[in-house]
Amino acid sequence: RIAVVGSINMDLVVRCERLPRPGETIIGLDAREVSGGKGANQAVAAARLGASVSMVGRVGSDGFGETLLGSLQAEGIHVGHVARTPDCSSGLAIVAVETSGENAITVVPGANGRLSVEDVRAASDVIEAADVLLLQLEVPTETVIAASQIARAAGTRVILDPAPAPTAVPEGLLAVDLLCPNESEAAALNGLPVESDDDLQAAARRLAEISGAEVIITLGDRGALLHQRDGQSVRVPAFPCTAVDTTAAGDAFAGALALRLAEGTDVPEAIRFANAAGAIAASRHGAQPGMPTRNDVEQLMAD
Ligand code: ADP
Repeated sequence: RIAVVGSINMDLVVRCERLPRPGETIIGLDAREVSGGKGANQAVAAARLGASVSMVGRVGSDGFGETLLGSLQAEGIHVGHVARTPDCSSGLAIVAVETSGENAITVVPGANGRLSVEDVRAASDVIEAADVLLLQLEVPTETVIAASQIARAAGTRVILDPAPAPTAVPEGLLAVDLLCPNESEAAALNGLPVESDDDLQAAARRLAEISGAEVIITLGDRGALLHQRDGQSVRVPAFPCTAVDTTAAGDAFAGALALRLAEGTDVPEAIRFANAAGAIAASRHGAQPGMPTRNDVEQLMAD
């Protein structure tokens, strides 16, 4: 069983020939509504792979709230702890994409910004009953810390995907079991660039020291680096794929990692599985629609 405490967003994606200048009105080509948010994406990733998933979050009192709840339920995710927030918009990402590929994005946290410490306390039953709790940083930091503390006190393993990279790291935030940044988040958390292989090893070591956690740095088409508690590090290679949309690769990776750890697999093997899930997500368009099934992942691993 997996619990996810995190963000739920509607992405409004508008395609246009070129982005408007300030004060200008342009005619767009088309528009799509796509369910997103890192929390919801990771919940969908784990559910699609076969996990029993409970989501803890907030949607707004707007029409998007209803749609977002529906898309979680359609994946079989338990939404008993997803609250509707009166007089508040749902989390929104307004994404304008030029035909050249250039984009301009405005993110409104909306209801995600209202997910409170009381909300996670009210959901302590599902957090305590879970094998793994998945956390990201698109909801208030104090809420993330409270969820992590409830989980760890109950023996639920905590995975933190520190995205978006925090500008300040409050006491206790990184005190988790597994810390899972990508390269740029690892650089931001350390306040140092991560360019060479030596930088990478040093960043992982330093994050492990600060947090006391096992550290996994995801490396896109180069797979992932694991820094274990015994100080050893292990490189786990990626599965080759033709990447068309890597936006949700990290979310697929996190959901898959949580699933295999909840099943009792060791960390290196869980990373191998998560690399396969990430590669499949990167090879498909759209975040939630592109999340692989268990069958997809097992086939890629068997090839
Ligand atoms: P994020 O999406 O958070 O920036 P990464 O780009 O590191 O994170 O991707 C997460 C994981 O997805 C990687 O560790 C890898 O397993 C997989 N992945 C991402 N891009 C590719 C790719 N081009 N080829 C193969 N695997 C990929």
